[in-house]
Amino acid sequence: MKTIGLIGGMSWESSLEYYRLINQEVKARLGGLHSARCVMVSVDFAPIEALQAAGEWEEAGRVLAEEARACERAGAACIVLCTNTMHRVFDAIQSAVDVPLIHIADATAAKMHEVGVGRVGLLGTRFTMEHDFYKGRLSGFDVLIPEEPARTRVHDIIYQELVLGQINEASRDEYRRIMGGLMERGAEGIILGCTEIPLLVKPEDASVPLFDTTLLHAQAAVDFALSGSAG
Ligand code: GLU
Repeated sequence: MKTIGLIGGMSWESSLEYYRLINQEVKARLGGLHSARCVMVSVDFAPIEALQAAGEWEEAGRVLAEEARACERAGAACIVLCTNTMHRVFDAIQSAVDVPLIHIADATAAKMHEVGVGRVGLLGTRFTMEHDFYKGRLSGFDVLIPEEPARTRVHDIIYQELVLGQINEASRDEYRRIMGGLMERGAEGIILGCTEIPLLVKPEDASVPLFDTTLLHAQAAVDFALSGSAG
């Protein structure tokens, strides 16, 4: 089994989920007492969030590239960046290490191909919904994002509640309504494109398939870790 390197802390609420999902997945596939070989570096989210808000993506890329090098030095055979948003600086991180960085949007696109959806809604931070780094990676799919003011609500609920570990029923209802709007516009599935959204929204909250990027990314990491090995 290869060692998975995780860059966490963005936020730690979802990093916990990655750790749990990766270990559950290894146990499900190998059975018995098997668990994942992994290392995690976990950043302080406050300065990262400040860089995002200031649009200082280059500096954020430098910081996370350094964390990726630390993962590699610790023995990681691949790297998993435990956030959708910071894939904005994927290239800066990947070019700093020799091991592959597993892209969260690629893991998501693979599942969407398997399910057979063409038009999908995307929920995430404003950066993920509006910038091109994410939608641009989902070639072949027609990606819809919420209109304003719903888009701002999706973003604010992430930063004011979910990354702080707050799960509110009223916010779940808002997300349900917003997903309903995307479905009315023809979405055949919805990407939960922020690693904390699956803490709030569950499959029963929509009548179309939900693509849980945290789960799909964790599964892709385990695919990599177990590839070419009997365990
Ligand atoms: N974890 C979130 C994501 O998947 C948002 C926090 C961040 O900005 O990194 O995008």
